[in-house]
Amino acid sequence: MTPIPTLHDVYRAHARIKPMILQTPLATSTDLAEKTGARAVHLKLECLQNTGAFKVRGAANKVLSLSDEEKKRGVVTFSTGNHGKAVAYVAGKIGIKAVVCLSEHVASYRVEMIKALGAEVSLKGQSQDEAEKNYQQLMASRGLVPVVPFDDPLIIAGQGTIALEILAKLPDTDILLIQLSGGGLLSGIAMAAKSINPGIHIVGVSLEQSPAMLESLKAGRPVAVEEKDSLADSLLGGIGFDNRYTLSLVEKFTDEHLLISEEEIKDGMFYIFDKHRGIVEGAAAVGVGALLNQKINVKGKKVVTLLSGSNINSDEYIGIIQNRLNKDRKQ
Ligand SMILES: *Cc1c(COP(=O)(O)O)cnc(C)c1O
Repeated sequence: MTPIPTLHDVYRAHARIKPMILQTPLATSTDLAEKTGARAVHLKLECLQNTGAFKVRGAANKVLSLSDEEKKRGVVTFSTGNHGKAVAYVAGKIGIKAVVCLSEHVASYRVEMIKALGAEVSLKGQSQDEAEKNYQQLMASRGLVPVVPFDDPLIIAGQGTIALEILAKLPDTDILLIQLSGGGLLSGIAMAAKSINPGIHIVGVSLEQSPAMLESLKAGRPVAVEEKDSLADSLLGGIGFDNRYTLSLVEKFTDEHLLISEEEIKDGMFYIFDKHRGIVEGAAAVGVGALLNQKINVKGKKVVTLLSGSNINSDEYIGIIQNRLNKDRKQ
């Protein structure tokens, strides 16, 4: 078993992935600071990242670390979207084969995005679990190298590079609000941030609809939760029954957990549109949604939250914004 990632691995990842990523800007939200009583609120704009989500950081770190022999064989992954897109992007950039296994339920615009990057899409099964089975079979039958979405030290270290960029610009950050699903993102950022500044307060934001990591922390082992639809589709899915890294890293490094509802996600999405003129997918808006709904006390603190991605179907996005505008007009 590969050892758990350290700050050193995160620095190495940052150097390795530089040609593949954008060092995204930090926006300041004066209005959100006023609303919450925070000393400052900043938004890390991974919604502007290459491929439209931070996942390219982990995927690039993993794929670029493969041996020449592994690169020749090509890579395979399964993903609800953003990780698959990231793997396809990185593989395309360095000219290696990528196969992405998706369930037949994945939204068609996501399938098209992955195909457009030159990857082969294998659509099979009715659930994420069945897509995973297909992936296991392809790995064995075609000798493809697996690139998993979160439970891998190189993926975790890649996502952790976000913390380096935040703390380089805002070294006195008090609170980091991070979306939590499989936990690769939170593990990497929290480990790196606490290695640099042990006093930093790490808050994980999970979906009320599908808090797989929270239930697993309570049970002390990976548990499955019922899959319900969510606006934050990038946060759906389990943590894997053979989870080796993220469950224990999330347990070690998270100071506080929040659950966010579908309505609160909409609040966050609308706010980012209305006040910051930004387009984000549901998963990206959970931190802002939590702040707007006073789910956490940030009085006098310097807060950073992550806008983690912007991959959302245009019709769905416009529908959400339009509904909110109509509702506000009626009031
Ligand atoms: C994958 C993803 C997350 C969650 O990351 P995990 O490592 O699974 O916890 C959050 N936001 C977006 C946009 C994502 O694609």
